[in-house]
Amino acid sequence: MTQDSGVLLRGAERLPVPGPLSTELYNRDAAVLSGSMGRVYPFVMERGVGCEVWDVDGQRYLDMAAGIAVVSTGHSHPQVLQAMHNQLNKFVHMAGTDFVNEQMVTVAEKLARSMPGTDQWQVFLTNSGTEGIEAAIKLARHATGRQGIISFLGSFHGRSYGSMSLTASKSTQRKGHFPLVPGVFHAFYANPYRTPFGIAPDQVTQATLDYIEKTMFGTIAPPSDIAAIILEPIQGEGGYIVPSQGFLCGLRQICDRHGILLIYDEVQSGVGRTGKMWGFEHDVEQNCAGCSHCKSLNRSGCTPDILVTAKGLGAGMPIGGIVARKSIMERWAEGSHGSTYAGNALACAAANTVIDLVQGGLMNNATHVGAHLMHGLRDLQSRYECIGDVRGRGLMIGVDFVLDRNTREPARAQANAMMEEAFKRGMLILTCGYSTIRFCPPLVLTTAEADEALERFEATIKAVWK
Ligand code: PLP
Repeated sequence: MTQDSGVLLRGAERLPVPGPLSTELYNRDAAVLSGSMGRVYPFVMERGVGCEVWDVDGQRYLDMAAGIAVVSTGHSHPQVLQAMHNQLNKFVHMAGTDFVNEQMVTVAEKLARSMPGTDQWQVFLTNSGTEGIEAAIKLARHATGRQGIISFLGSFHGRSYGSMSLTASKSTQRKGHFPLVPGVFHAFYANPYRTPFGIAPDQVTQATLDYIEKTMFGTIAPPSDIAAIILEPIQGEGGYIVPSQGFLCGLRQICDRHGILLIYDEVQSGVGRTGKMWGFEHDVEQNCAGCSHCKSLNRSGCTPDILVTAKGLGAGMPIGGIVARKSIMERWAEGSHGSTYAGNALACAAANTVIDLVQGGLMNNATHVGAHLMHGLRDLQSRYECIGDVRGRGLMIGVDFVLDRNTREPARAQANAMMEEAFKRGMLILTCGYSTIRFCPPLVLTTAEADEALERFEATIKAVWK
């Protein structure tokens, strides 16, 4: 056990944060970097291993945020580093838009193979999530010859113009940036905890599907003009919301009835985070069990036409991509789309190892340790009135804080205060939605680390809700 391992430092007294070196860098940052980047609390990273990180003043933290659900294999995973070193010794980049490299082809093969069903799939690699969303909506419009896109309230798809036009998470993200890309319509997400207009939770799936097919299609969005419906199978920035049962399947059926493409944004929920390679696979296997549509499609009924990935794919290296049915992707002629860094060999070397590690065990770890963490958080819910809901899948768990369990009024100020308090207690957490603390740690989290996180979380709750 190293001197600065978590166990040895666990009982050690913590210094007040931020320390002097962190403060200095924090001030330099404020002077020169755009204020558009929020600084949720003054953590300045020095290094990290697995789920542990250290700041520049030498203080240790348990990382339950993983760089916003990015560092899937944990900080400094030796196999990912080794793969990158090996590639560094050969070459870094050779324009994937113009030339072939083995790392890029291998990533694409692995992503194509990860899709369920018997269809053939093709891949376009990107540098980020937002760039993947742009590619997906360009492809959908190009392939269908239609312009309209249906997205969902509460969704987050990125910050570039196309993706921002789909995003409907916080109005500050749009303020001052109009006009947005035309042809986007927003529907209600089947949120079972805070249902649209307070309808009964057991009616939310049908009501939200009917709103699209009866109201929107009948009034503002002719289905023959709609290219795609795009959604996160589990909403991320919107509050870690698992939609109510049958929602994805119902959307698949609407798309099939009207020749619309279904796009899943798996940027946050994908690459093993929920315990399966893709978040939507839970719906294929659980929610739709017994549904005639899924049965007839050989249990791949909720499968999308285009899937967008990023974040966890590179475990910190900037890489994303879209995976589309070959019949759709092949409508793009040479030159229809491109990107200088698409298929960057170094990023692809990392992604290849990440996919192997995730499929080779880390997604199972997400299931098991996620269940342990969920159990502990539900225990806290049973003891603290301020926790209204604990939800999620695998290691994508949201804890929703409320002022009143009956009205479910979000406890925004307290949720924000909890981030700062947890930071003081040596744990990195982030909020999402109105008042949800999200747990999206590296997928290498151990049960001992989950227990440590629960301990620190309870101390944080006590401090904020005293
Ligand atoms: N889609 C989802 C679901 C996301 O959570 C994010 C980022 O948080 C994005 C897209 C945008 O990804 P990026 O920040 O890599 O552009």
